[in-house]
Amino acid sequence: MKVIIAGTGAMGATYGSMLKKVGNDVKFLDLWQDNIDAINKKGIEFINLGKKEILEASAYRPSEVHDTADLIIVFTKSMQLKEMLSDIKHLLSDKTCVLCLLNGLGHIDTLKEFVKPENILMGVTVLTAGMKGPGVFEVTNYGNTEIQNITEAGKERALKVVETINNSGLPSVYSSDILFSIWRKACINGTMNACCTLLDCNMRKLGKVNHCRELLGTIVEEFSAVAEKEGVNLNVKEITDLVCWYTTEEFRGVDHYPSMHQDLIQKNRKTEIDYLNGYVSKKGKEYGINTKFCDLITILIHGRESVLIGE
Ligand code: NAD
Repeated sequence: MKVIIAGTGAMGATYGSMLKKVGNDVKFLDLWQDNIDAINKKGIEFINLGKKEILEASAYRPSEVHDTADLIIVFTKSMQLKEMLSDIKHLLSDKTCVLCLLNGLGHIDTLKEFVKPENILMGVTVLTAGMKGPGVFEVTNYGNTEIQNITEAGKERALKVVETINNSGLPSVYSSDILFSIWRKACINGTMNACCTLLDCNMRKLGKVNHCRELLGTIVEEFSAVAEKEGVNLNVKEITDLVCWYTTEEFRGVDHYPSMHQDLIQKNRKTEIDYLNGYVSKKGKEYGINTKFCDLITILIHGRESVLIGE
């Protein structure tokens, strides 16, 4: 399959490399020049479950590529998605599927501005990867990818994409309710990421904070109230139990700092808060739902961005 990776960060480099290794024709695009230069100089350097590997590869700015592809996987951060889609407009043919595996909410509306609905595939992944610097990536866990078309017309191609990703060694399944999975994952990110970033702690320490369950449960309730207006039914108790479980010994990664903490506190990069608690806060106002915890969390995370990054 001809594949374009639109955003060669931790996740884009991982999916693209796995697809390339098994013979797919993969092109890597990015907007960060230092990263493009590093990949062109020494390939994609991976720390793959602790073992170093180098994959020969070239990376390009979107304007340098003119051939379209069967599949474009967008893998920017949420706030870079619109810019990337605008930059790859010339690569979107009638037959090109665009798969979005970004965390967060509201991406379907952004994709629809550029891509026909029958060509949009949405997904969720629990693979974990990080970027150690330009051209250097680390994969720490090969978790499942769920994928679904957003209109019935896209189903056959979604199944083909699931098969292609599976054949590359990345466990992948066809989802019958991707919106549910997207919202459920957003609840995990909207609790773990936001709270650990504000409290500057890992998940184990979050679990020890007084009223932790009440705090996480209220955030989940707010997500659930907005999700319901958008046709998605979440079970508040089940998701609250799940997010609380992430703070316990039973979760192997309990000492992990979520990606928002890594981005903002460790690397002073902007966060995806507007696509998590910020989305719930914005939509809550539109639907007349009280989302005061998400409102406050969004204000505080932006405040922390302003203090640390200065914009
Ligand atoms: P990433 O930050 O590694 O890369 C995203 C983009 O940001 C790339 O284009 C990259 O080149 C650019 N970038 C990275 N550092 C930069 C810097 N210092 N200056 C300028 N540009 C920089 O993001 P990711 O981890 O690949 O995440 C992509 C999407 O996938 C996000 O929506 C994320 O929430 C989601 N996701 C990530 C993981 C994970 O484990 N990393 C897991 C599931 C979902």
